[in-house]
Amino acid sequence: MPATGRTFIIAGAGISGMTLALALAKFGATVVVLERNPTVQEFGAGLQISPNARHVLDGLGLSEALDAVSFQPEALDVYPQHQTVPAVSMELGQLMQDRFGAPYAVMHRADLANVLYKACRRFANIDILFGVRNWDVVSHARGVSVAIDDAAGQSRTSRADAFIGADGVHSQTRQGVLNGPQARFGHRIAWRTLVPTDSVAGQIDLNRVSIFLGAGFHLVCYPLPYRRQVNLAMFMPGQPSHEAEQPSPQRPGPRVQALMAAAGKSWTAWPLFTVETGTWNDGNVGLVGDAAHAMVPFQAQGAAMGIEDAGVLAPLLVHQKDPATALTLYAKARQDRVSQVAAHSAKNGRIFHMGWPMSVARDMVMTLEGPRGHLRRLDWIYRHNVTEQNSKSGPNA
Ligand SMILES: Cc1cc2nc3c(=O)[nH]c(=O)nc-3n(C[C@H](O)[C@H](O)[C@H](O)COP(=O)(O)OP(=O)(O)OC[C@H]3O[C@@H](n4cnc5c(N)ncnc54)[C@H](O)[C@@H]3O)c2cc1C
Repeated sequence: MPATGRTFIIAGAGISGMTLALALAKFGATVVVLERNPTVQEFGAGLQISPNARHVLDGLGLSEALDAVSFQPEALDVYPQHQTVPAVSMELGQLMQDRFGAPYAVMHRADLANVLYKACRRFANIDILFGVRNWDVVSHARGVSVAIDDAAGQSRTSRADAFIGADGVHSQTRQGVLNGPQARFGHRIAWRTLVPTDSVAGQIDLNRVSIFLGAGFHLVCYPLPYRRQVNLAMFMPGQPSHEAEQPSPQRPGPRVQALMAAAGKSWTAWPLFTVETGTWNDGNVGLVGDAAHAMVPFQAQGAAMGIEDAGVLAPLLVHQKDPATALTLYAKARQDRVSQVAAHSAKNGRIFHMGWPMSVARDMVMTLEGPRGHLRRLDWIYRHNVTEQNSKSGPNA
């Protein structure tokens, strides 16, 4: 690709920031990423990457590297409280590839971050500055000026065509530059841990994703064979200042209990914050990923949305005459889809945590819907391919 002569500065070397850096660099743009951490740091837990996100990553030439560190589960089983037979099993594996043209895979977050980081390092036109202490951005008619205090305490001012905040749920770009809202805490905690595969081998099928539903909680488990570990994520009400060392769901049932016993006190509590804002851009400053739209993770789509954002924004930034227009077109192209996915995810949270008797009706509906029906209902999420079309897609599309 020819160099575009354009320069972009991104705040945050998370999944969204690095994906955007790669997508821009592929078009020949010069990219500087400002990361406050001293290295790429992803929390030690798993991530499901669905076909809609995978299309973008594959388009960046990462499919082989991702295949090497990820696993494609055969299916996703949803178990009602105390049941040993799933209410519904959604086929994944080859079916996802055949139906959506890309795999549904699970991986360790750090492995995805590593794949992205290694790919970034291969581009001479991507510079990731770690340990950045502070930055300040001003948007003007010809782009942006960014004052940067680097890791060594040196200050400098850089000019660029646009500044994109990929700085996560508590984004400085959103709150400090775009005057956007604080993230909202929804009084729920994700308890996360990784356990050795052997410790849970008899409790779950190690070729599948297992979701155990209960009144007021649900537990998601999937294998990470590359790491010889199983990812456990338990979602339930709680407070950020929670001092407990492990989750304590009501009436978990024998299997959930056994999985919790395998985890012991290794859990880490992760308060769930969401972001809702209509202001994703102003002038030559914009937002991607959690900075723009952190959502509850009950459809496993937060990172996927950040990856899709990158796939839409990069071509606009390099092809549109001015970056402000590109950022406006990007927000317009993305906001409906992202809010539909966020709403769907929030609804899942309510459905998953139903208590008796609503849970009986829920389980019956799931069973009647069947695996293909369940997948058809999610078609609009997984089929979306921003590398083919950047237009709107929603449940009714
Ligand atoms: C329990 C749980 C399970 C999940 N499971 C899934 C899943 O299976 N699939 C899925 O798609 N999504 C999932 N998600 C959502 C997903 O984790 C997030 O949406 C995704 O990690 C957001 O990536 P990001 O790059 O936008 O933000 P972040 O990962 O938060 O990255 C932001 C980066 O910016 C840096 N930064 C912050 N502030 C500054 C600053 N001022 N200056 C410079 N750098 C800064 C940070 O250090 C960080 O590196 C899950 C979330 C949770 C909580």
